[in-house]
Amino acid sequence: MRRLSYLLLALIGVVTVASVAAQERIDQGAYWKIRQEAIGNSKILQTLHMLTDVYGPRLTGSPNLKAAGEWAIEQMHAWGMKNGHLEPWDWGKPGWTNERLSAHIVSPVKDALVVEALAWTPGTSGVARSQALQMILPERPTRDTLTAYLDGLKAAVKGKVVLVGAPQQVLVTFNPPALRREDADVLSQLNQPPAQGPQQQQPQQQQQRNGEPQTLTNNQIQEQLNQFLVANGALVRVNDAGRDHGQIRAFSRAGIAQDRDFDLAKAPATVVMRNEDYGRIWRLLSDKRTVELEFDIVNRIHPEGRTAYNVVAEIPGTDKADEVVMLGGHLDSWHAGTGATDNAIGCAVTMEAARILMAIGAKPRRTVRVALWSGEEQGLFGSQAYVREHFGTFEQQKPEYAKFAGYINIDTGTGRARAMTVFGPPAAGVVLREALAPLSDLGVLGATTTRSRQRGGTDSTSFNEAGLPGINVMQDPIEYQSYSWHTNLDTYERIVEDDVKKSAIAIAAAVYHLAMRDEQLPRFGVEDMPRRPQQPQQQQQQQPPPQQAPQTPAVQTGATNP
Ligand SMILES: [Zn+2]
Repeated sequence: MRRLSYLLLALIGVVTVASVAAQERIDQGAYWKIRQEAIGNSKILQTLHMLTDVYGPRLTGSPNLKAAGEWAIEQMHAWGMKNGHLEPWDWGKPGWTNERLSAHIVSPVKDALVVEALAWTPGTSGVARSQALQMILPERPTRDTLTAYLDGLKAAVKGKVVLVGAPQQVLVTFNPPALRREDADVLSQLNQPPAQGPQQQQPQQQQQRNGEPQTLTNNQIQEQLNQFLVANGALVRVNDAGRDHGQIRAFSRAGIAQDRDFDLAKAPATVVMRNEDYGRIWRLLSDKRTVELEFDIVNRIHPEGRTAYNVVAEIPGTDKADEVVMLGGHLDSWHAGTGATDNAIGCAVTMEAARILMAIGAKPRRTVRVALWSGEEQGLFGSQAYVREHFGTFEQQKPEYAKFAGYINIDTGTGRARAMTVFGPPAAGVVLREALAPLSDLGVLGATTTRSRQRGGTDSTSFNEAGLPGINVMQDPIEYQSYSWHTNLDTYERIVEDDVKKSAIAIAAAVYHLAMRDEQLPRFGVEDMPRRPQQPQQQQQQQPPPQQAPQTPAVQTGATNP
């Protein structure tokens, strides 16, 4: 009898789960209209043209970023959206832009060189010409060994162009990275148990053995080296880009999380040179030839950039208008390209999703709010400020906290949406999976959940950290980590039109469903909310982007949020 009752209970359990799993009522008519509008009347390439060709690059604190935000609001208002505005937050650092940059080898041969300036470094005073000098830093130096090494070079660096480090050997790639993920690969990821937060942050510096002098971190080495180059009158610092096919990743100086690193007086004029040019000059110098280089670098500081802005606009809700479903991505970019795949695409896809909902006459029950963030590349600062201001955290909630019904974030390049990851209980994953099920022919294969409140990677984690359901879109890799991510190749040309249109369909449909269903997206409550991990004091540096790490590590070029 007991056995039987257990069996009965178990059966009831299965039935209940099954009926829960089949409860989502999908508005197939609306989904059909979303597809028609997205394919037939797409505006997404025009949006991308504006955000990249007209307003790119869009570095945080730069006039371009603010102008891009103002244009986006104007555009969303033109589509009929409401309440568009720039929401200021205090960044406290000046903006920086590079306005002119030329580099040449003038002796023993004449040729143009391909370089990018590092953000928040100064320019040259007019055209600067001088001899090049090789510098190979000691490995794993302590403060004392680095000082002793640099002391020996004081006279040598004065007025010189200093190439820091031997060129990286970038081997030919015989097995190019896959452009798309196999369905089976996506599905197996969706069937994994939910990801936990990392148990323990790796300490930045390795434990020193008793009595041994402490070796410096990369940030400490770069800071001491820059101080030395400035103090001893080096003309220009040159770093090796260390990537193939002329790719250059130029972020900001290493250790940029520190306030002092935004002080231009603390660094020499600095460029990152493509590996091919760097290698050529290095080899000429190794022949004991005298090499002369010439640079003209004009950089500008924008004090008004201390106030940064997030862009917000809404489709007002109807009977549940006080509840909100959000979607967005970061609008700020690095400066070497025009920030097309990182992340004009995320902004254009979410703007397009909202435009589609307007165009088909959707009347969402909950308010749909587009947010385009700033300060992401320096440490998710814009979305952090927004979540703090509007929602608080699970532990310290503001009134809007209870009214939040999900934020869909997209930030991994041009690849089409393949699945979504939601911070929440299994029931939240079921809702999303069913909302996306009618889109499997577009390659959207479902959803999974995470329990991690660890900040990092991209803006959805600012919501997760607060205990709110951030949803991140998994995408096909295409050329993101291998070519366009943070490089000088991140331009309009890297957009795959069919993919971005399909991503807009997936996001429009998911947002529509979350805005229409009777209940809010299920969230963790008091009984199952994961603990908030200790966050590092400063935003973690060298954070790999979601899904997979870059092929080769970035070289000494600073913060790397996707
Ligand atoms: Zn990004």
